Amino acid sequence: MGKLVIVGTVAFDAIETPFGKTDKILGGAATYIGFSAANFDNVDAAAVSVVGGDFPQEYLDLLTERKVSIEGVEIIKNGKTFFWSGKYHNDMNSRDTLVTELNVLEKFNPVVPEGYKDAEVVMLGNLHPAVQQGVLNQMTNKPKLSILDTMNFWMDIAMDDLKAVIKNVDVITINDEEARQLSGEYSLVVAAREIHKMGPKFVVIKKGEHGALLFHNDNMFYAPALPLEEVFDPTGAGDTFAGGFAGYLAKTSDFSFENMKRAVIYGSTLASFCVEKFGTERMQNLTDKEIYKRLDQFKSLTQFDIELN
Ligand code: AMP
Repeated sequence: MGKLVIVGTVAFDAIETPFGKTDKILGGAATYIGFSAANFDNVDAAAVSVVGGDFPQEYLDLLTERKVSIEGVEIIKNGKTFFWSGKYHNDMNSRDTLVTELNVLEKFNPVVPEGYKDAEVVMLGNLHPAVQQGVLNQMTNKPKLSILDTMNFWMDIAMDDLKAVIKNVDVITINDEEARQLSGEYSLVVAAREIHKMGPKFVVIKKGEHGALLFHNDNMFYAPALPLEEVFDPTGAGDTFAGGFAGYLAKTSDFSFENMKRAVIYGSTLASFCVEKFGTERMQNLTDKEIYKRLDQFKSLTQFDIELN
């Protein structure tokens, strides 16, 4: 059984899209990653995060029900949970962050549970880069694969810490705008090359409804996003992608470029479910049957034969 440590926020989100608005609902990078990675059997996943005393136990239970361990989720009784609020533009491809309240995250010291310190795969989801590094430092065996996700918020306030942790990971997954901000390059091919130089051997650039690119030295792979009839809420799609990517690699324990291509397809497939409902709703009771059906659709969407003479 492949162990997977997941780091990231467990949060309250308030979301506004052209289709509606939510009050504070369950969100957070680790939550989405956890729900996504939970779809792989033979993966023993544990979330490392922090919440306040205001966080409903039933939200934590949802992770436990999906067999994601919450042993590493600290509860600070007299603290307030991280809160994020965002509003999507009409095209749903871009959003404005309205509120980011770090609250209990401000002084968070992550603790990796003893039983997970030897995990093969570590997924460092969106959180302060010093916390991401703190988790890496606690691993007793060097993980076979470390993956880092981040966002512009941390580039704006903690770029030096971020560059320090990026040096120590094997894979980075970020969106196109963030890749440009991190590298200072507009072309994503050039941006990926520059990010390689910062440390990660593999660079995954997520392009929302335009799919995802995987780079490894001079090798490049592209997977489109599955065109959907309805997109209600893109929140968490990037994290769900990362959870599918990391979960598949933890399950298969094969970290070659060829297998990472399959991991990108799993990530894209799982993300295509996430956006169909508000928040984590669609991810809470996804079935294997639904996933296989969509993988099949993905296959026929992208497969073609051509004769080259
Ligand atoms: P995504 O749409 O994949 O970028 O992820 C959205 C999730 O990231 C939401 O559930 C938020 O709670 C969480 N989030 C937003 N801002 C931050 C931040 N600065 N650090 C960590 N997580 C965040």
